[in-house]
Amino acid sequence: MERSTRQRTAIRAAIQRSGQPLLAQEVLELAQSAVTGLGLATVYRNLKAMVDDGELRLVLLPGENPRYELAEHAHHHHFLCRGCQRVFDVPDCPGDLRTLAPKGFLVEDHEVTLYGRCIDCSMRRPPRSRRAS
Ligand SMILES: [Zn+2]
Ligand SMILES: [Zn+2]
Repeated sequence: MERSTRQRTAIRAAIQRSGQPLLAQEVLELAQSAVTGLGLATVYRNLKAMVDDGELRLVLLPGENPRYELAEHAHHHHFLCRGCQRVFDVPDCPGDLRTLAPKGFLVEDHEVTLYGRCIDCSMRRPPRSRRAS
């Protein structure tokens, strides 16, 4: 029991510190320094339990493996970088999208995902030849 508390604390801290939705593999990489012998299967098991407990929320983008974020975040959206495949939080919301729906349809929720290049990838120049003289 104590060990599982330690695992969950490390996983939560890793997601909190990164400030962005993480893949299980990324959670493992960030949390394994805090918990010796932590493996991917254990990370998955904890992530699932933490989603079931309402502590974490799944971020499911089309064609992407599930990512995890803290459930306490207010309504927000995501940016998927096509350069590095990382997902970032977008705090802003376009607001009321009800007018987009066909007449007579009731909108209950919406998801907005932006695709493009994050600041790191957009500033990265194409690699140059190292031997250029
Ligand atoms: Zn990027
Ligand atoms: Zn929104």
